[in-house]
Amino acid sequence: MHTDHFEQVMRTLKRRYVARAESAKDTPWESVLFTMLTARSRDEQVEPAFRALMRAYPTPAALSRARVSDVAHIIRTIGLYRGKARNAVALAHALVERHGGKVPADLDALVELPGVGRKTASCVLVYAFDIPAIAVDTHVLRVTNRLGWVKETTPEKTERALREVLPKKHWLDLNRVMVQFGRDVCTPGTRPRCFACPVATWCGFPNKTKTSR
Ligand code: SF4
Repeated sequence: MHTDHFEQVMRTLKRRYVARAESAKDTPWESVLFTMLTARSRDEQVEPAFRALMRAYPTPAALSRARVSDVAHIIRTIGLYRGKARNAVALAHALVERHGGKVPADLDALVELPGVGRKTASCVLVYAFDIPAIAVDTHVLRVTNRLGWVKETTPEKTERALREVLPKKHWLDLNRVMVQFGRDVCTPGTRPRCFACPVATWCGFPNKTKTSR
């Protein structure tokens, strides 16, 4: 991979998409809880349940005292809600007991928390703390592999490989722009919208689509 390609692609996508959006969920506590709840669920589906949960239990201390069944009832519209309710209360407990009720700004400490994997931890670092990290969700996995930046099949391997090749100055914006680009143009399935792609010139995907059908 020619290193100019990273520059060209990231510059183009940052011009087109909001690189640093304002978000209502950018406090560390909101960020970690929301990201945990969105695992295998859509953001729009999680949003109302998340808001209701925050109203009922606004802080880690409050949530740590909640009954799991009450939390499950509030978030029952979300997929896997029982497990997520258990994790949410356990997460709040762990934050209170280990970190004085605060979310740690450290990858290793974050991944030790219940229900927090590397993707969630990296998202929290990026979105809540402005600390460079590579958060590989389904969009980052798909798009960076299609672009030819890495050749991996899992989020974990993709994260490791991207750490090696992608200059650190792009880490903060990577997830945000790739999520928007992945929904908009480099869509899932067999027919991404290559014919409308602003970075096709630098993309190594062999099956580029030429039309919408
Ligand atoms: S050319 Fe196609 S596969 Fe490559 S980044 Fe653009 S939309 Fe994705």
